[in-house]
This record gives sequence, structure tokens and C-alpha cells, in this order.
Amino acid sequence: MDSPFFATNALKWYDENRRDLPWRNTSDPYRIWLSEIILQQTRVQQGLPYYQRFIAAFPDVFRLAAAPPDKVLRLWEGLGYYTRARNLHACARLVVQNHQGVFPSRYEDLLRLPGIGPYTAAAIASMAFGQAVAAVDGNVYRVLARFFGLEQPINSPSGKRVFQKLAHELLDRQRPGAYNQAVMELGALVCTPKNPACHTCPVRSGCRAFQLNRWHKLPVKAQTRKIRTRYLHYLVFSGGNRVYMKKRKARDIWQGLYDFYCVETNRLQPAEKIVKSLGLRPGYISGVSPAYRHQLTHQKIVARFVVIGNPAGLPADAGLRPYTPAQAARLPKPVLITRYLADTGFL
Ligand code: SF4
Repeated sequence: MDSPFFATNALKWYDENRRDLPWRNTSDPYRIWLSEIILQQTRVQQGLPYYQRFIAAFPDVFRLAAAPPDKVLRLWEGLGYYTRARNLHACARLVVQNHQGVFPSRYEDLLRLPGIGPYTAAAIASMAFGQAVAAVDGNVYRVLARFFGLEQPINSPSGKRVFQKLAHELLDRQRPGAYNQAVMELGALVCTPKNPACHTCPVRSGCRAFQLNRWHKLPVKAQTRKIRTRYLHYLVFSGGNRVYMKKRKARDIWQGLYDFYCVETNRLQPAEKIVKSLGLRPGYISGVSPAYRHQLTHQKIVARFVVIGNPAGLPADAGLRPYTPAQAARLPKPVLITRYLADTGFL
């Protein structure tokens, strides 16, 4: 039906309009893999400087594999979803240890590496090795849902199967990497979530959503889980131009990043109450911040920072260590902590 029209026009448009991005001028799987991991949940504009910093620091997989974990997390700081950074590092190590630094070329083998799901495996296999597998990301779901007028929820297992099958049928067997990028680029530049540029769209004449004026209803998403609010009280022990920080170990948000001693409750509590609950004297409090708000994908963080100007009361076994401003600046930290330290003038 509309399939050949869609594929041909999307690819032709891509050849004439694609952005000149560094990972598009290479078939090096390391660079393509790195760009794909950085660009998950991240726009190209935001991800590009990260990609350039990573390539400058680790020009090949051997250099990345040999890097200390803190250095990788530090470079990642601000991108969020830190599991991606940890998986990135684990994947580099595995490629070096088990594959002599050579990325596997088959989709099925790429899928076995940490942090590489079906989309990323398909992107690497098609772009670096020319394997005919369809890469389906959020842009592709949106473009296909609109062009073909598909109402299946894109986040349901059955909906995913429908889109994956269609994407596979549409794939240009001669140029799978270029075709995958063409549909993603169309979604990023023309068929955007809000206000798509239908008037310049190369596939407009066959588009169901355009004909029915339904672009704003597509793609359909089934209701997802609710966002939970968490209340964190950070006790900022400080003294002698040093601040006491610790590495987060628990299987929770920000694992491996550095923050302060933290007390979590089911709502914000007065600073004195928190301090007393730890057996400390409220007189040690030398400042209380306003509430900071920070949005994560499924969590809203409300945090308050309570400065304790007497490190003598440090809770034992909390793993807190003193850091000068220069040392604290080098630690990998959640954006919330960096924001607070910058606001206080410590960084
Ligand atoms: Fe998207 Fe509009 Fe193009 Fe349809 S015509 S694919 S809605 S940009």
C-alpha cells in the first residue's frame, strides 16, 4: 500500500536534508555505539558536547575500558539516567575482555552486551555493519503511528510487536543504516511531537494523520505508572573549607554518585527534628536551605539541605569523607547536589 512511497521518500529526503553529525561520518562501531548510548533519552543538541568530550577522553574502547569509574561518571554528569553510564563502562570492559576490543557485528550478539537493548543493537548492526534490522525508537514510533494512522499503544507489548513488524517490512534492504536514520531524522526534524512541520514533510501526501488532522492524537500511549514524590533531608557536615560527602551505594537513584548524609521521610520535616533524630544538638545547625525540587522520570525529588557546622557529630559508618571545593568539583554528583553547591558558592 503506502509502504514503498513512505520508504522511498523518507530516504530521499534524508539524503538531501540530514544533519552533519560526527557519528554519521563513520562506520566505526565504537563511535556509533557511544553516540547511541548518549542519545538515549537525550536530544542531539544536548548529547553532542557529551559525545565530543567522551571521544576526546576515550578515543577508543580500550581507553574507555581502562578508565576509573568515577571519571566516566564525572563526564556523564548532567545527562541523567546514570545506569546508562555504568552500563557503558561495563560494556566497554566486556568488549575488551571477551572480544579483544572488537564489537560483535551481529544483532543477536550485540544484544548480549550490557546496556544494549533491541533498539541500540539494531542501530549498531545496521549503521556499522549493514545488517538489515529495523531500529525503532520514539521518533520512529511517532512517524509510523502518524503516517499509517496506527492507534495501538506504543508502550504495550502487542503495540510494540505491530510497530516492529511494520518497521521491518519497510526497511530498505540495500541501505538499512541510512533508512533507519532517515525515519529517526524525519521524526526529530519534521514530524516532531508538537507542531509537526507537515507543510514541508516529504511523505505528507500519503499521511493518514495529516489527512484526518489527527497528528496530535498519535502515537497513542497506554497509561503509565504514577510519579512518586520523595522527600530528602541532606545533612551537609562542613568545616575548615571542607564538605563531607559519600558515595551512593544502594540500588536506588544516582547509584555511584556522591551526595551528603541523607534522611528520607514521607514529607518535609523541620530541620531540628531531623537533627535530633540522629542524636545531634539543634545548636549545630548553621543554615537551612529552601526546598529544592528536581524531576526524574518516575520520581519527583523535594530536598532540603541542613548545614551542620560541626563535623564532630558525623554519624559513624556513613562513609562520609571531607572534600575541598576543588576535590568536590571533580566528584561525579547528581545535578541536584551540583546545583546546591553552586548556589552556596562552594563550587
Ligand atoms: Fe508527521 Fe505531518 Fe509528515 Fe504526517 S505529514 S508524517 S503528521 S509531519
